[in-house]
Amino acid sequence: MKVKLSRHAGFCFGVKRAINTALKANSVSGSVYTYGPIIHNPQVVKDFDVKGIKAVEDLKKVKSGSTIIIRTHGVPPGVERQFKTKKLKVIDATCPFVKKPQEYVRQLERDGYTPVIIGEAEHPEVIGIKGYGGKRTIVVGTAEEAAKIRSVRKMGIVVQTTQSGSNFLAIMNVLSGKSMEFRILNTICNATHERQDSALKLAGEVDIMIVVGGKNSANTKHLAEVCETTGVETRHIESASELQTAWFRGKKTAGVTAGASTPDWIIKEVAESIKKL
Ligand code: SF4
Repeated sequence: MKVKLSRHAGFCFGVKRAINTALKANSVSGSVYTYGPIIHNPQVVKDFDVKGIKAVEDLKKVKSGSTIIIRTHGVPPGVERQFKTKKLKVIDATCPFVKKPQEYVRQLERDGYTPVIIGEAEHPEVIGIKGYGGKRTIVVGTAEEAAKIRSVRKMGIVVQTTQSGSNFLAIMNVLSGKSMEFRILNTICNATHERQDSALKLAGEVDIMIVVGGKNSANTKHLAEVCETTGVETRHIESASELQTAWFRGKKTAGVTAGASTPDWIIKEVAESIKKL
């Protein structure tokens, strides 16, 4: 099987920075935790666990004085206050591209706008951004949800960094009828654009697309959705062990892409395994 790799695939700037930050902290301190998994990739989280960097959601499990790392998705200000109360040493690895919508939502609130976040309400990044707005902050994930929100006088919009451009536009189309005055900050990150654009291009050149990354990774899921829009058969896997020979029967070329939280070694392993089929 011939394999073509997407031009942009795998670790982005923010993920590399967070991983290096955590490893550096672990080399100088024996008690390092990440607040939630460092990234949405089970293999990396397992590797961190072996190295002694534990992912925790419950601060009761963290001893006072330990080091806690805020991952790329960020956290709401209320959680940062809990870190302080517990006297934890905080290392903030929130991606600078996630800081932007956090700060913008806070500013929108101050300027009297109703903040609207386009994204997945349950995603940690969106929960973190929402924490910077007031009670009236709204999250919408689909055009259908957008149609249900009430009209407001002044609306300020930010976007989860990993949203697809097409979903953003579909929602904006609906929101345009919900207010007279808008402020919009398109906070979809460039790494997301690059990965989606190059995956879309590649999907048009191959018989099957294999998208590699955590099943809980928003950017990997969106990457798979983008590939599916081209009509090409698309499979989302976490590792080479999930590949099935039947998928490739009668096909000549496979395209491989990966989310921003997928390590290079997993992408290579998948590509090499497909070549042998
Ligand atoms: S995908 Fe973008 S926003 Fe998310 S961590 Fe990577 S660089 Fe930062």
